[in-house]
Amino acid sequence: MIQGGCRMRRIRRVFCLFSILAAVMLGGTYAWADGQNEVVPGAGSVVSTSKHEFYAFEYAKDYLKQQLVRRENEITFTVRQDSRKDIGKALLEAALEVTEDTPGTQGDYLDLHIEAYKISPYQITAVYNTKRKLQYYEHTITYSIRYYTTWDQEKAMNERVSQVLDDLDLDDLDTYEKIEKIYNYVCKRVSYDYDTSGNTGKFSAYNALVKKKAVCQGYASLIYRMMRQAGVECRVIKGTSNGVAHSWNIVRIGQKYYNIDATWDAGSDPDDYKYFLKTEAEFKDHTREAQYKTASFSAAYPMATESYCFGNHEWSSEYTVDVEATCSSYGIQSIHCLRCDAVKEGSLRQIKKKSHTYGSWKVVKKATIFEEGEKQKTCKVCGAKRTSSIKKLTAKVTLNASSVRMKVGQISTGLAIKSQNSQDSVKRWSSSNSSVVSVGRKTGKLKAKKKGTAVITVTMASGAKATCKVTVSTKTIKATAISFPKKKTTMRVGETMELNLTVKPVTASDKITYVVSKNGVLSLTKDGKIKAKKTGVAYVKATTKSGLTAKCRITVKSAQKSS
Ligand SMILES: [Zn+2]
Ligand SMILES: [Zn+2]
Repeated sequence: MIQGGCRMRRIRRVFCLFSILAAVMLGGTYAWADGQNEVVPGAGSVVSTSKHEFYAFEYAKDYLKQQLVRRENEITFTVRQDSRKDIGKALLEAALEVTEDTPGTQGDYLDLHIEAYKISPYQITAVYNTKRKLQYYEHTITYSIRYYTTWDQEKAMNERVSQVLDDLDLDDLDTYEKIEKIYNYVCKRVSYDYDTSGNTGKFSAYNALVKKKAVCQGYASLIYRMMRQAGVECRVIKGTSNGVAHSWNIVRIGQKYYNIDATWDAGSDPDDYKYFLKTEAEFKDHTREAQYKTASFSAAYPMATESYCFGNHEWSSEYTVDVEATCSSYGIQSIHCLRCDAVKEGSLRQIKKKSHTYGSWKVVKKATIFEEGEKQKTCKVCGAKRTSSIKKLTAKVTLNASSVRMKVGQISTGLAIKSQNSQDSVKRWSSSNSSVVSVGRKTGKLKAKKKGTAVITVTMASGAKATCKVTVSTKTIKATAISFPKKKTTMRVGETMELNLTVKPVTASDKITYVVSKNGVLSLTKDGKIKAKKTGVAYVKATTKSGLTAKCRITVKSAQKSS
């Protein structure tokens, strides 16, 4: 077996480069500064050829990662920090971090293509404000890096990987089938590189894919690259085998990870694979480096404890929710294989939609006395709307009297509407017996014709009604009380006002005489209103022949200034 010769990445702390930093395009995400001018992070994208300055560790990390992907040999930038603590190594580790979304060109792939690096020079400058108070430290960090591949090779690799994955036609395949196809491809095409000339290309995925020869590091990074690009969760595991440095991969099927080692299965017939989708117990001849044995790594990458089923599925007794139901769509559940997560044929079931989460009702259209209104509530999750009607308002009308007396031959305009809905209007007045009392259809003016009784009805446009009983006799109807709506009021010069004298009973036939104070503050108009003439205080007085009086004190102020 070919188990030796597989070198791990070596970190050399020697070479020193004085190359000029290439001009670099910066995206909008990065803070940058040209010379001493400070710029806020994210303030536009500009080309800077001199100095890259970051306010935050995160921006610096993203920049470093971008430069590593482009295989830049010398990377220099400045980061603001609160302390003098060296962050060079932490930044590099963060730039190489792998998450579920890490693309195939980053994370482990980057890590495995760095041959050596040096962090030097590392300069720290304390920055003070004008009051000589310490503001922050500027860490100017330079990374000198050697890679196993060039940017040109990586660009060729990008094309080649996409083409191979296209040819493999993986789109409609499940995770297992994708893994199998990629694994078969690599095992069949890539053979072990025994070259001892010192050429380091054999450590690269580029050599594995393009030159079809590589050592374990090339196999493992190619597998990682192709799996991730095909949407399969994959990591590279570094460790030893029989005391010799080695690297292999883990891939996720369902919720669990399995070991695969393309280096050792290369050249084998698929039926004879010995290192394909194995548990840890089945991988005893592989020993992980300490970093892959921690509790946090195991939690993030849980290994399968049972052998992969290879089609001999072990169906779960419970349904797995594949797609959660929402208020706008059905969910899906099915029975899965406990080992490979395959879905049992015919087990798919719909999960009922959830009910909407409505907000409170909002009035879209107000109800009136004529029409129903409308209210609406909206689901906070999906925006679905529910509409409901609001009842028509009940119209109401009242008259200023419910029963009155009149004298034969008397005409009265005293019966009137006391209250009504503001949108409403009189449709008609009518009398139950016009030969006793007739009423003006529009005006409500009463005319007593002969002795008897009649009911006067006012009908509003809304349909609301009010009635008043009228009794006609030969007796004169005399006022028993008169009053103004208010005893005191205010007017402005130039205004006119209705007197609105209340007479009880409303059909009293007494003649009313009005007078105003003689100080020229008020005057009476021909149509029985009063007009404010000048500032001052005056009275208006109403008097009946029988001696009833009512008085109202009016203060006239200067005309309102238009502001
Ligand atoms: Zn299965
Ligand atoms: Zn909803």
